[in-house]
Amino acid sequence: MKLSGWIFIIIGAITLITAYFLPHLRFFLYIGSTIAAYGLAKVIFNFIFKEDKSLQNSTNYEQLAVKELQESSCKRCRNIIRTYDNFCSYCGCRLK
Ligand SMILES: [Zn+2]
Repeated sequence: MKLSGWIFIIIGAITLITAYFLPHLRFFLYIGSTIAAYGLAKVIFNFIFKEDKSLQNSTNYEQLAVKELQESSCKRCRNIIRTYDNFCSYCGCRLK
């Protein structure tokens, strides 16, 4: 998890708390809420972006695993074979 967004939220919250206890520093409320909103947007954006990326990766890995399985077992005897072999080393079945 990226911390940059959370740091903005914390700084924003501290600024808001400071502004709450010091009513004569009204502009701190705007600064604090702006920083907190920016941090929140950053966290949400990172979460969505990360979620999409991980989903794409798992799909790729699944496709790769299926492909690997098809290429590494003999059509006739179902034994595990090396993908670069021309003939099955167990039953002699032509692989390519
Ligand atoms: Zn075979």
